[in-house]
Amino acid sequence: MELRVDRERCIGAGMCVLTAPGVFDQDTEDGRVVPPDLMPAPEREPALREAAQMCPSGAITLVSAD
Ligand code: SF4
Repeated sequence: MELRVDRERCIGAGMCVLTAPGVFDQDTEDGRVVPPDLMPAPEREPALREAAQMCPSGAITLVSAD
């Protein structure tokens, strides 16, 4: 699974940080998501899927590795 984050679409709402703390972070300057580990451990997948669903700007995408 590959994680893609579009910082241009991010509006800094912070839902991803609340949903998957330790995976996502926000830039202290502009509040936008900081590119996280783009190949997260498989056990993170449920939290990442939830974060992608919760993101109000659709900036988070999960792509199957196969
Ligand atoms: S939830 Fe979406 S809009 Fe909000 S900080 Fe995360 S990526 Fe950006």
